[in-house]
Amino acid sequence: MRLPAGHKFPAEKYALVRECLEREAGFEFTPAPFAPLSAIELAHDRGYVERFVDGSLAAAAVRRIGFPWSEGLVRRTLASAGGTLAAARDAIEHGWGGNLAGGTHHAFRDAGSGFCVFNDFAVAILWLRRECGIARAAVIDLDVHQGDGTAAIFAGDADVFTLSLHGRNNFPFRKQRSRLDVEFADSAGDEEYLGALAAVLPRVFDFHPHVVLYQAGVDALASDRLGRLALSPAGLAERDRLVFSAVASAGAPLVLTLGGGYSQPIRLTAEAHAATYRAARRMLSRGSQNNPAPQPPLDGSPAAAASGSICRCRLTSAAAAPRS
Ligand SMILES: [Zn+2]
Repeated sequence: MRLPAGHKFPAEKYALVRECLEREAGFEFTPAPFAPLSAIELAHDRGYVERFVDGSLAAAAVRRIGFPWSEGLVRRTLASAGGTLAAARDAIEHGWGGNLAGGTHHAFRDAGSGFCVFNDFAVAILWLRRECGIARAAVIDLDVHQGDGTAAIFAGDADVFTLSLHGRNNFPFRKQRSRLDVEFADSAGDEEYLGALAAVLPRVFDFHPHVVLYQAGVDALASDRLGRLALSPAGLAERDRLVFSAVASAGAPLVLTLGGGYSQPIRLTAEAHAATYRAARRMLSRGSQNNPAPQPPLDGSPAAAASGSICRCRLTSAAAAPRS
């Protein structure tokens, strides 16, 4: 995917996150497969999917997405959603699966928005429901921007619990209603954020989800150019610890994705994302705690060459050793 000079989207961070992690034991990286269109269409209007893929979306719809359309964007988009689908399958098989992309929570059923074309969480949840018989899913969205697309897609779906913690004064300016929304004023810091998160997490697990999807955006960092909040790296690490500890206690499979992050320098964002994946490895490495499910087919073609740095990762058996 080529972006115009000066574009706000930090395309380089995906390779940086992988560079941070790839020499460490305990992760296995594989190229993300393309998500099959049949899976995308579980969550999206078929006409929207077709128009995006063949390049016939109206100019205003492309502007709302925020990327110039190209065949490279189509490949990247399908690999990003495919990585989350593969991570979902890993989670069901092994207890934990990650995508080093994804978290595209601003995409609605019939429109993309805010650098998000397809909603990988909605696709994965509906695919798990169809292929694995997963009934209840929970979304923990801690990106600083509200998970508005996810909230809208699952509004009225009693089997999906959507939680979003986000900045009140940040994009999207017209908020949707998640099952549970927590809003912060500008410059909210560690204490306020962590107190609020600790207070609401039990609500997610009282729902007894069969799978948890965590959108672990790191744009709540004080160093973020777009985030407007003021978390420290230590505060962000504690955020992840709270989530993973609750997931481990519940024994629910976890699907982990990236999300937003726009720190300057971008290295700070990449390091924060990498820290999240290390914490997952450390805290969720006991192996599969969930009931094993038959492996569903995922027949998207390999996207190694096309998707650039989009990979998924999962714990390898070697990862069971290091715990701290
Ligand atoms: Zn964000």
